[in-house]
Amino acid sequence: MKIKFLGACKNVTGSKFFLQIDGINLLIDCGLFQERELKNRNWEKFPVPPEKLNYILLTHAHLDHSGYLPKIVKDGFSGKILCTKPTKEITKIALLDSAKLMVEDAEKKRKRHQKEGRKGPYPEIPLYEISDVERVFSFFEDVSYNEEIKISEKVKVVFYDAGHILGSSFIKIFADGKEILFSGDIGRFNNPILKAPTLIESSDILIMETTYGDRIHEDRKIAEEKFQKIINETKEKGGNIVIPTFAIERAQEVLYYLKKLLIEDKIPHLITFLDSPMAIEITEVFKRYYFYLDGEAEKLLNKNISPFDFPLLHFTKSVEESKVINHIKGSCIIMAGSGMCTGGRIKHHLIQNIERPESTILFVGYQAKGTLGREILEKDEVRILGNYYKVKARIEKIDGFSAHADRDELLRWLYYFKKSPEKIFLVHGEEEVINEFSEIVKKRFSLSEIIIPSYLEEFEIQ
Ligand SMILES: [Zn+2]
Repeated sequence: MKIKFLGACKNVTGSKFFLQIDGINLLIDCGLFQERELKNRNWEKFPVPPEKLNYILLTHAHLDHSGYLPKIVKDGFSGKILCTKPTKEITKIALLDSAKLMVEDAEKKRKRHQKEGRKGPYPEIPLYEISDVERVFSFFEDVSYNEEIKISEKVKVVFYDAGHILGSSFIKIFADGKEILFSGDIGRFNNPILKAPTLIESSDILIMETTYGDRIHEDRKIAEEKFQKIINETKEKGGNIVIPTFAIERAQEVLYYLKKLLIEDKIPHLITFLDSPMAIEITEVFKRYYFYLDGEAEKLLNKNISPFDFPLLHFTKSVEESKVINHIKGSCIIMAGSGMCTGGRIKHHLIQNIERPESTILFVGYQAKGTLGREILEKDEVRILGNYYKVKARIEKIDGFSAHADRDELLRWLYYFKKSPEKIFLVHGEEEVINEFSEIVKKRFSLSEIIIPSYLEEFEIQ
C-alpha cells in the first residue's frame, strides 16, 4: 500500500492524494491549486498517468478539492468518480462556473498582456473549457452516507457526513485489515444549516486537514452581532457593504443570517444583491436536499419558509444586471464571488468601492496566502485587473461564519478517536499552522507517528 501527496501539503489548496492499494489506483480529491505562487502546478504534467487511475473519491465540491477534474479527464482519466448526490450536483455547477471564469480570465489576460507587450508565467489559455467540464459528468456515481461500497475483493469505501458544506464527506477506506481515513475538510459543531461532523472512533492511518489549526473562531453569537453592527454603521455613513462570498455554503449561510437579523428587526431593509449566478443555483440545490440540513434551517424549510430569501433580495444573473449595481447610490449589500477575490464579479465591485472610505469590504471566509482577498486584508494598495488601488474602504473580517472547524473543534473531533492512529498525516494548512497544530497533536497521541508531508512525497504503508 502506497500513498503519495499531490497537493495541500504545507499549503491549503490543490488537495489530491494518490493511494495504491491491492492493485487499485485511487485518487482522493482532485483539487485545483489556487494560491498565486502555486497555480503553475495546475499546468504541470500530472504525477500519475490519469488513465491508470481506477477511481476518484471526492470529499466535497469546493474547487480546491474538485476543480482539477476536467483537466484530469481531458488528460485521459476514464474511471469512476464517487461522491454523494449533493456533492455531484454542486460540483457540476462549480466546475461549469470555474471553466467560464477560466475562459474569461484567459481572454482578459491575453488582451492585457498584448496591450502591455509582455508575457505572463503561464499560457494565456484556459486550463479547461465548458466542453471539458461536460465530459466529467458521465463518470460520476452516487454514494450515500454510511453505505459500504465494495470497489474490489479486498477494498471497501465508506463516506460519512463531514458537516463542512452540503454533501461533504470523510472517506474511510478499508483494505487488508487496515483503515485509512481522509478528513477532507472538517465542519463545525454548531452550524445553523448543516449537521455536525460525524465522530469517528478509529482509523489506522489518518490524513487530516489543519486549515484553522492555529486559531479559534469567533463565537457565532458574537459574529452575528458584529455582522449586524457593520451593516448598521456602513448604512449610517452611506457606503456599500461588499461581501466576497463563496457561492457554496457561505452564501446560503450569509443569507440565512440576513434573514434572521431582518426578522428580528436588527438591521435596516437594504437592497441586497446576490450577484452570483452560481450562488443562486447552489441555493436551489440546498432547497432540494433539505433533509441533509440541520437545526434552524430545517425547521423553517419544514414550514415551507425559505431560510435563504427575503423581500429586497435580488438575484442578478446577467452581467448587464450586475453592472447596474455600480450606479446605485446609497447603501446596498453586494454579495459576489469569488470568495477569495481571485476572479469573478467581485473584482468589479471592489474597484467601485475599495477607495471609498464610507464603504465596507467584509470578508466572511478564509483568505489563502497569495490571493487578492488576503492582500486586501494585509496591504494598503492592491492590484485589481491590472490597475493599482489604495485600500481606503473599511476592511472587516468575520471568522465566526467559517465552514471549517477551528483548532478546538479539530481537536474535539480528533480526540474522539478511541485508539491512537498509527500514522497521522497533517495536510491542508499553511506550514506554520501545521507545525503549531502538530505540536498539540504530538502531546495527545504520543504513540502515533505525526507526519507533515511535502508536495510529491510518497510513503509505504505496511
Ligand atoms: Zn472545503
